Amino acid sequence: MRRSKLFNQTRASLALSYAGVMGVILSLLGFGVYEAIAHAHWMNLDRELESVAGTLHDSLELKLKQPGNLEPIVYDLFPNLCLVGTNCVKEGTDRERFAPYSRGAAAPALRDRHVLSAIKQDNYYIRLFDTSGRLIAIAGAYPEGLPEALDNERWQTLSDRQGNVYHQISLDLHTQDKKPWGYFQVGRSLKDFEDYLNRVKYALISGLPLSMILVGGASWWLAGLAMQPIYKSYKQIEQFTADAAHELRTPLAASLATVESALLLPEIEDKEAREVLTTIERQHRRLTQLVADLLLLARMDKQPAPLRHQLCCLNDLVSDLVEELAALAIAAKLMLALEIRTKTPLEVAGNEDQLYRLVSNLIVNAIQSTPANGKVTVILEQSDRHAVIRIRDTGIGIAPSEQKRIFDRFYRVESDRSRTSGGSGLGLAIAMAIARAHQGSLTVQSELGKGSTFIIQLPLAAAYKTELKPQNS
Ligand code: ADP
Repeated sequence: MRRSKLFNQTRASLALSYAGVMGVILSLLGFGVYEAIAHAHWMNLDRELESVAGTLHDSLELKLKQPGNLEPIVYDLFPNLCLVGTNCVKEGTDRERFAPYSRGAAAPALRDRHVLSAIKQDNYYIRLFDTSGRLIAIAGAYPEGLPEALDNERWQTLSDRQGNVYHQISLDLHTQDKKPWGYFQVGRSLKDFEDYLNRVKYALISGLPLSMILVGGASWWLAGLAMQPIYKSYKQIEQFTADAAHELRTPLAASLATVESALLLPEIEDKEAREVLTTIERQHRRLTQLVADLLLLARMDKQPAPLRHQLCCLNDLVSDLVEELAALAIAAKLMLALEIRTKTPLEVAGNEDQLYRLVSNLIVNAIQSTPANGKVTVILEQSDRHAVIRIRDTGIGIAPSEQKRIFDRFYRVESDRSRTSGGSGLGLAIAMAIARAHQGSLTVQSELGKGSTFIIQLPLAAAYKTELKPQNS
């Protein structure tokens, strides 16, 4: 379907807006996921450090006797402990430093062994300070260039000379008899943590353009779907305007031509003037009818349900119409019959004029579409809670491909156009609008060359009566 530039532009801007909003939502979501992962890891890290530090601290306090003095027994707990000033830190490889049982030291208790296994990793270190804040000893993967001055705030994040970041916890240390001994710090490098978060960040950032491509495609498709009904009704309005203009132009052009040709005459006789006026009157009547029909359709579009101020007896309505149109049928040399297949009067609630228009449109169409010696039958019957009116003819019939389209505004079947019946193609559209406004339906069954039956179904007034009763009583 080729669409106008306006529609393509609107579709593109709609798709862009969708994609923009989705992009913002996805970015916020990605940021949220990243923050949640970082927070969860940070909490885990704190918990691990706290548990390692707490366990070591408690074990250490049991072994300390004098403030600032490291008993040899402390080496059982930290065999890789290095006093500041000695060169053991530089000499030992990580492996040696974290081989706690290799020097014949007594094996620590099971609980301590579990904790040690955590700090045996390369990224943990331990620092011991005396009460004056002087660094006494270190253990583990002690990083170069970490500030040696004591900061005994419980949680700290610091960096070394190379810019590597560490996170540490500080605890007060006491001797066995609860005298202040100094301070104990357990810290770890945040490198693995940062590496992991960077990987998550890159995955999210590189996923964003891919998701934006998918979102862009989906937005374009969705915008197309959203535009479809608007495009359809736009096309219908366009078609309707063109048809209406065409239908209005014909009688206007005919009137103008008649007037112009009359004006060309040097003198005009009474008889000729009368003929001209009659032609103009006829064209104006046609115009007036057309405008009235268009107004009726517009009004029904605006307010689909008519006010139910009248009860109409369909038995009377069809009898009157058959009587009124008998002359037309005689002129067309065909038979117009009425069959009322119900003993009780069938009443519907609605607008009587409109219901007259509905049935008469169909009978007139049937008469016009039936050749001489044919028959048009109007049947009234009841089916459940509905009144059914069938207008059956033995006329030209309607091809299956045309059967749906005949209810469109200004639509006329090709054979009718060539016959130039004088109709504007609004008759069935009006009939359908009236049937719908009365909560009814209008359908057609037809066979080309054999005839057609138009079926009107209208809800009986009994249903409305029960609805209205409580208000009346
Ligand atoms: P109009 O107002 O010009 O009669 P309608 O909307 O009433 O137009 O009808 C639409 C088309 O359906 C017309 O071309 C008409 O010839 C055709 N049509 C309507 N009723 C019948 C029928 N009973 N048999 C065959 N064709 C019909």
